[in-house]
Amino acid sequence: PIKKAFSVKPLVGESLSLVLRGTNVKGVIDIADDLCVIEADEGQINQAFNNIIINAVHAMPGGGTLTVTGEDAVMEAGNRFGLTQGPYVRLSFSDQGCGIPKADLEKIFDPYFTTKTSGTGLGLASTHSIVTRHGGMILVDSAPEKGSTFTIYLPSTGHSV
Ligand code: ADP
Ligand code: MG
Repeated sequence: PIKKAFSVKPLVGESLSLVLRGTNVKGVIDIADDLCVIEADEGQINQAFNNIIINAVHAMPGGGTLTVTGEDAVMEAGNRFGLTQGPYVRLSFSDQGCGIPKADLEKIFDPYFTTKTSGTGLGLASTHSIVTRHGGMILVDSAPEKGSTFTIYLPSTGHSV
């Protein structure tokens, strides 16, 4: 793993334009330019984002909007997630797609779990392991017909430059 300090906003922009090109899904980014920098393997984080964005496209075959928001966050000591205390960035990817049945929510991060006819079931497992290896976590909130939101926490440096 090659760690370096970088801003996630431009990376989100690159992932969205690459993956959404030629689809009828529109990407909206709501991230402050001074969001704190993270120290991470940029290639892996890029892959983690791409996997989520690809799934959002699959979930909106008729088109729609994928909104990515980002905020600085602080994890307190003894937080319920078991994350190390300190500064984090929180990124949420919200689609307007088919949503995920409640019974599937606990399985979607398992390797080889897929509901697609030619899915590999490896995208979210890979994203989960990348985020976890970086000291962060991924959460999902979804309801059928309403869409899905994937929220990623990644440790940040606590400063913007
Ligand atoms: P694959 O995309 O190959 O099926 P993933 O690990 O990327 O594998 O996703 C696993 C499953 O999680 C998908 O098959 C789908 O059922 C569900 N899923 C993931 N992202 C979304 C989403 N944004 N909307 C609806 N379902 C999703
Ligand atoms: Mg996938």
